[in-house]
Amino acid sequence: LYNFNPGPAALPLSVLEEVKHTTVEYGGRGISLMEMSHRSKPVEALVHTAEQQLLEQMELASGYRALFMGGGASMQFAMLPLNLLTKGAAADYILSGSFSEKAEQEARYIGQTRIAASTKASNWQQVPDVRDISIPADSAYVHITTNNTIEGSRFNAFPRTGDVPLIADMTSDLLSRRIDYRQFDMIYAGAQKNIGPAGITAVIIREELLARCSQQIPLIWRYETYASNDSLYNTPPVHTLYVLERMLQWTKQQGGIDQIEERNRAKAALLYAMIDGSDGFYKGMIDAEHRSDMNVTWRLPSEELERQFVLEAEQRGFIGLAGHRSVGGLRASVYNAVPVAACEALADFMREFMNKH
Ligand code: PLP
Repeated sequence: LYNFNPGPAALPLSVLEEVKHTTVEYGGRGISLMEMSHRSKPVEALVHTAEQQLLEQMELASGYRALFMGGGASMQFAMLPLNLLTKGAAADYILSGSFSEKAEQEARYIGQTRIAASTKASNWQQVPDVRDISIPADSAYVHITTNNTIEGSRFNAFPRTGDVPLIADMTSDLLSRRIDYRQFDMIYAGAQKNIGPAGITAVIIREELLARCSQQIPLIWRYETYASNDSLYNTPPVHTLYVLERMLQWTKQQGGIDQIEERNRAKAALLYAMIDGSDGFYKGMIDAEHRSDMNVTWRLPSEELERQFVLEAEQRGFIGLAGHRSVGGLRASVYNAVPVAACEALADFMREFMNKH
């Protein structure tokens, strides 16, 4: 099968092979990893290496912490304002797709928000131009979603926010491309696209920002609690953390972000070339310069043909290609673990389908 699922998504076969060694017996201890205490040495070591690996690959080894917690990226939509949207202040949100909207809507339960820029009026067909965005100096933070998973768009430039913290939801593009991660004060990502299975979320936060987080909220919702307890304040999903750690080692073995990015660009280019060269049979849903390399979205001349495409694709072993139910169309999610061969095979299938129909 060629797995184009949007998340939970494909994992490298070598990582899945390694998981086998944890289910019955782990690390010569006679019990499986799932049966081990999160306070045991092997688990403490796992959390430690996962944090180090993630920070190293993002080139954030100094001045930042990487924290791991449950609740998905959606929990961060609420946890972020709980920690940083203090009474009387307002936070600025850049809207570029439905997940960014959800983030802003959750924050409204906690405090005041402003829309700094939005492309909703054009149906998210591009992302806002944020280079010259003006942010009030007293803003609590600016929030941006760097890659829009549902729509298939991404930012190539990021706002300069001065002293105002810049926070990014990178759920669908973390470690997939070279970005100067240091321009962000906090980055969060549900693991289930590029860095592991579902059930764990990475929060990478500048140490200075940790010190500014609210002390008026329950301990379990404070980033500081996760930082001072090395993500072991309460019981984390230990086995999921293991897969995440293996996935980070895999990313490193691939040559790190630069190699991964090059491959991702080539993968997406195969599909975009097919779309653009189809004489209008396939239509990309996003303006060319804002297209994502992670989520490639396109439409066919009719919804009936789109359904037919999904059906025939599945018969040929391509799964996960239906667009998100809110937008329709087709979407191929080509995260880090999706091989080039899968995209070549899909491009061939697209050509064949076009000729047939
Ligand atoms: N943000 C983005 C950009 C996403 O793609 C997703 C999920 O696909 C989420 C947030 C929500 O993540 P979760 O399901 O982990 O809460």
